[in-house]
Amino acid sequence: MDNLHVFWHEGMLKHNLGQGVFDTLHDPGFLEVLENHPENANRVKNMISILKKGPIGPHIQWHSGRPAILHELHSFHTPEYVKMLIEADAAGGKTLCGGTRLNPGSWEAALLAAGTTLEAMQYILDGHGKLCYALVRPPGHHAQPNQADGYCFLNNAGLAVQLALRSSCKRVAVVDIDVHYGNGTAEGFYERDDVLTISLHMNHGSWGPSHPQSGLHDEIGRGNGRGFNLNIPLPNGTGDRGYEHAMHELVVPAISKFKPEMIVFVIGQDSSAFDPNGRQCLTMSGYRRIGQIMRQQADQFSGGCLLVVQEGGYHVTYASYCLHAILEGVLNLPQPLLTDPMAYYPEEDTYSERIEFIKKYWQEVSESWLKESNAS
Ligand SMILES: [Zn+2]
Repeated sequence: MDNLHVFWHEGMLKHNLGQGVFDTLHDPGFLEVLENHPENANRVKNMISILKKGPIGPHIQWHSGRPAILHELHSFHTPEYVKMLIEADAAGGKTLCGGTRLNPGSWEAALLAAGTTLEAMQYILDGHGKLCYALVRPPGHHAQPNQADGYCFLNNAGLAVQLALRSSCKRVAVVDIDVHYGNGTAEGFYERDDVLTISLHMNHGSWGPSHPQSGLHDEIGRGNGRGFNLNIPLPNGTGDRGYEHAMHELVVPAISKFKPEMIVFVIGQDSSAFDPNGRQCLTMSGYRRIGQIMRQQADQFSGGCLLVVQEGGYHVTYASYCLHAILEGVLNLPQPLLTDPMAYYPEEDTYSERIEFIKKYWQEVSESWLKESNAS
């Protein structure tokens, strides 16, 4: 059985956004007890802990990450944007957009997140392993070529895609299940026909100048890239069966048509039932199933090669349990290794009306996307 290779570096814990009213980075003084910013080191400490001490532990080999070298960043980001980040770090910090601030230590962590993801991809490209997971923060999928957004500075997954393309891979598929639209990754490859970007997300729309993309299904790519971006906005509360349906009806056919030589699986546990940042109601069972489906796609198209990249996931307990479940699925383990300590949603009947709604909605969207995709 294949092992999972996990890439991590403790320097990523140095990024600290402090406390405030949720992610506002601001405290007007009304509350006695403030929380950490949701993108904090504790969430990742628990992810490391559960992978080391949980029952998945024997299936994992640990590897040290590394900082990215500046010129590596230019494969996805503009030199002007990188320069601005360096200057912001030298100046002692800068708020880049809502909830997203470069503090002392943040740049070092961002470079480590980017470099660690590149290291994990290189490990696959060198033939040392097939299943790699970059356990990184700060997250990256909102970072656009010239814009920070949504707690993200550097697009870790996008950089790894570029590395694969510049090596031996002719086509790379990205599947993003973080609850938010992977707008940065989509933007970076929006005019490319050698990268298929797929994102399943909450239907949150644009949230301002740092995130102008709507995430709606009519954003399908531009020019040569037309038909190579698949947005799957899902209604709040979609849940395990709704996600599995979307995977089977939309994601799997799109991957089958594209035939990628490498697959990047971008994960965020903020699509869970208990996340403060999302409303999609996935449980460990649903994440495990999605992990299995992605592993099947890798086995079918990319010779079993799958790079998993960490994004959001903000419930300090449940995100780590859901990570365990996703990786159990990726490892294609025959039985669940962990029971769900928190989910209480009934599996049957409750969802039937919602599933019918989703089926009807997506039949229309699927036909429209496939039509455009075939026309390109
Ligand atoms: Zn997210």
